[in-house]
Amino acid sequence: MGLRLYNTLTRKKQEFNPLHPGHVKMYSCGPTVYNYAHLGNLRTYIFNDILRRVLLYNAFKLEHAMNITDVGHLTSDADEGEDKMLLGAKREKKTIREIADFYTEAFFNDADRLNIQRPDIICKATDHIQDMIKMNERIEMNGFAYLAGGNLYFDTSKFKDYSKLGKLKLEALKEGARVKADPNKKNPSDFVLWFTKSKFQDQEMKWDSPWGTGYPGWHIECAAMSTEYLGEQFDIHTGGIDHIPVHHTNEIAQAEAATGKKPWVQFWLHGEFLVMDKEKMAKSKDKFLTLQLLIDKGYDPLDYRYLCLNAHYRSKINFSFQAMDSAQSSLTSLKQKVIEIKQNPGSNEVKNDYKQQFSDAINNDLDMPKAMSVMWAVIRDAKLGNTEKYDLLLDFDGVLGFGFKDFEEEVVDISDEIKQMIEEREQARKKKDWKAADKIRSELEEKGYILEDAPEGPKVKKS
Ligand code: AMP
Ligand code: ZN
Repeated sequence: MGLRLYNTLTRKKQEFNPLHPGHVKMYSCGPTVYNYAHLGNLRTYIFNDILRRVLLYNAFKLEHAMNITDVGHLTSDADEGEDKMLLGAKREKKTIREIADFYTEAFFNDADRLNIQRPDIICKATDHIQDMIKMNERIEMNGFAYLAGGNLYFDTSKFKDYSKLGKLKLEALKEGARVKADPNKKNPSDFVLWFTKSKFQDQEMKWDSPWGTGYPGWHIECAAMSTEYLGEQFDIHTGGIDHIPVHHTNEIAQAEAATGKKPWVQFWLHGEFLVMDKEKMAKSKDKFLTLQLLIDKGYDPLDYRYLCLNAHYRSKINFSFQAMDSAQSSLTSLKQKVIEIKQNPGSNEVKNDYKQQFSDAINNDLDMPKAMSVMWAVIRDAKLGNTEKYDLLLDFDGVLGFGFKDFEEEVVDISDEIKQMIEEREQARKKKDWKAADKIRSELEEKGYILEDAPEGPKVKKS
């Protein structure tokens, strides 16, 4: 079976074939770096990572670009509210540049800890202002823009397919969804391409432009940078589902208005939310959970990856610490099994179709829960040799991204006292004094150590 992906544009699962055979160009909306990424954001980047790995597993050559938003993203996606970067700078009494650099590094640090592969191209909005100005000029030249109150706006009434991606009901929007509508806008769904007269006179970062000194609207950055790096038409664009009605809808309008080429992007893929107590986790809310918080509570970052892989990317995940505990215990047992398999090679080639099952699962719109169950079936197969199992697991890990190769038995640093207790227990066992041996084992357990008797001698683990 070839790769099939659910395309938000058509609301259908479709067979995926890139525009240039064998070569995929993909763009992912990246983080707005005014705060730490929360677990919801990270879920979306795990989804991007899985998609990336599945494309590579299918032997496509991949060019994957992701932006870093360090200007122009207001607290509401619809040009309302404050500039998020400015908000972060005020909060921490730093410059916007300092905030952007700090949180960009923090983002990649989290991504590394989750085994999220780096996109091939990482582009910062502030490095591409001229590309955005150029795209805005093309949009204006083609008759899709107007100046009002000093700002340049996109006229959505001129763009026929505006509501296509979001299946938006523009009439409903007109009838009052926007309470404090911008009086400069001709239509409620119009959006800013370039701000000059903003509500924020203290906006720190400004650039000269044909429309005056100012800064870009948020949506133009992704349209301009993706086109710059991947071309005027490309294969896949990703983001969280919140981007469908505004950000991605506006990106399409801008790119297609500028180039006249349709469709700009073949496949739109969107990841569902991580919710907590039925509410979307959001950076603008005070309470959001970071990866560091999970680590501080004693979890391995990969426990969170495991939790995310156990759900399909188009299903909501209800975050809870109970779910984290369950992911932690599954990953711990997975680690033990993989180490056992690695340490005890032995060939027994039984005819099986696990590789086919695995690839059918991932190629069926990234069905990771199914792929994980195939992985467990391999581990539990009593007939299959460990050498064959390990080969299969390493192959699957190209997509799963747990890093099976690096799974090692934890080296426990033990004190002389513990060493002596282990030695005394060995002596007792040799003398077949089981009572004394069991007593020492219980004492060790009370001190937090678990002993396992392996053929090569006792093994100690922290409980
Ligand atoms: P931001 O840094 O706010 O621009 O968001 C980065 C990415 O995280 C975007 O693709 C959002 O769609 C996504 N996102 C935001 N909140 C959540 C959430 N609660 N669950 C999953 N993804 C989210
Ligand atoms: Zn974007």
